[in-house]
Amino acid sequence: MPSHKAMVAQERQERGIWWDKSWNVVTGCTPAGAGCDHCWANIFTRRFPTHHGFRSVRLGSPFNEPMPFDTIMFHHDRIEQPRLKTKRKVWATCLLGDLFHEQVPDGFIYRVLEMAGECKQHVFVILTKRWERASKTLEAWCKKYKTSLPNAILMGSTWDQDSTDHAISFLSRIWVPGVEDYFRWGLHIEPLLGPIDLSPWLHPFEDEPRPAEFPNECHRDAPPERDVSGEVVTWSVKRKCGYTIDEHPNPHGLAWVVVGGENGAGARKMDMRWARILARDCEGHVPFWFKGSGGRGKGKTDLLDGKAWRETPW
Ligand code: SF4
Repeated sequence: MPSHKAMVAQERQERGIWWDKSWNVVTGCTPAGAGCDHCWANIFTRRFPTHHGFRSVRLGSPFNEPMPFDTIMFHHDRIEQPRLKTKRKVWATCLLGDLFHEQVPDGFIYRVLEMAGECKQHVFVILTKRWERASKTLEAWCKKYKTSLPNAILMGSTWDQDSTDHAISFLSRIWVPGVEDYFRWGLHIEPLLGPIDLSPWLHPFEDEPRPAEFPNECHRDAPPERDVSGEVVTWSVKRKCGYTIDEHPNPHGLAWVVVGGENGAGARKMDMRWARILARDCEGHVPFWFKGSGGRGKGKTDLLDGKAWRETPW
């Protein structure tokens, strides 16, 4: 008989939630791109301000007002939270902000990473739209302490092809010479606002026809080289980030892809074909999780072609 907690976790998975606990050591944020237009964290903290904080309206006044979302808060008192749980949990790190926001000091980020490293019983999923700072800070931390975080995955939050290319160009470059475990990274594509082609990163050596939305020449800058038998031996993939996959230090670090549409008032529509292509590209290569179509009311679904995609890398 599974414990109550295990059953809750199972029930959460069935509802499309991939995490057990949220670890909101940083709350508050400022927009980092079109994916932020209807920021869920901003709406959530306005409804539930205790998660973010209050400020006194007037010194000595019993009345407080919710802290504005663009005030970045570092919650030192929450850093120890994972240590208090001995059973394995999947921690969604900074759902209500961005750990790598420009205003968060390196020292605070290092404390968070140290805690994640100490709590080996857990899995930490760190979401960020500050891909450049995240990759540089993580690499610096790994090099400084000559370690890595095999129990963590850095998820770049993206929303279209441009943002995804940009994120990949930084996340895939986290490279720690002399440390056995590389840093696992993934893509949290929500809200999905346009078609995204991940095939050059997932199966760069396959010579396969692409759907009409993604003509090969969009991303593959040269025909593949073949040996005498016609086998593809190299396929140079030049992305907008300006280097080829052949010179890429960690081409297979992509560990997870999560996709979903936008929810709530004014939600921008996600075309299910975009999600379908991503699922197909990931199948057999990298775990894929479909959060749902987004939108409101009727027609909203968390199934893709009748299937619940609930794959995880742990
Ligand atoms: S990065 Fe995330 S938390 Fe920050 S504004 Fe954008 S959607 Fe909101």
